Amino acid sequence: MTGYTKTQSASLALVLGKMESDISDDMLAALRQSGDKRYIDLAGEVHDRGDESVADELIAVENALTERHVRELREIKAAQQRLAAGKIEQCADCGDEIGFERLLANPIARRCIECQQRHDRTYAHENTPRL
Ligand SMILES: [Zn+2]
Repeated sequence: MTGYTKTQSASLALVLGKMESDISDDMLAALRQSGDKRYIDLAGEVHDRGDESVADELIAVENALTERHVRELREIKAAQQRLAAGKIEQCADCGDEIGFERLLANPIARRCIECQQRHDRTYAHENTPRL
């Protein structure tokens, strides 16, 4: 069960709610923008290769943005569920308590700082090109 007080849990819920509405706003703005661009694309009659590759690039950027938003929203939902279940302070790797300060700064964190650093090192190692 959670070792956090009601006030602490409420603070985390507040931060998560704020993150969620920020991302929803960003997503709506991005969708609205991309909707405008597609409309312009459809309205345009002549496309040469150059225009198409620019359009492809824009779509790729939009998809990447939306994917990031969706992933972040999913993480926020998961954190809200962990909070509701009283498990949010439990490190996913070692089961120890994630500090409240850490969660307040980053409520979607799943690991304590030690496990996160180990995770980041492993992850960074895999993605760092060898010089
Ligand atoms: Zn841990």
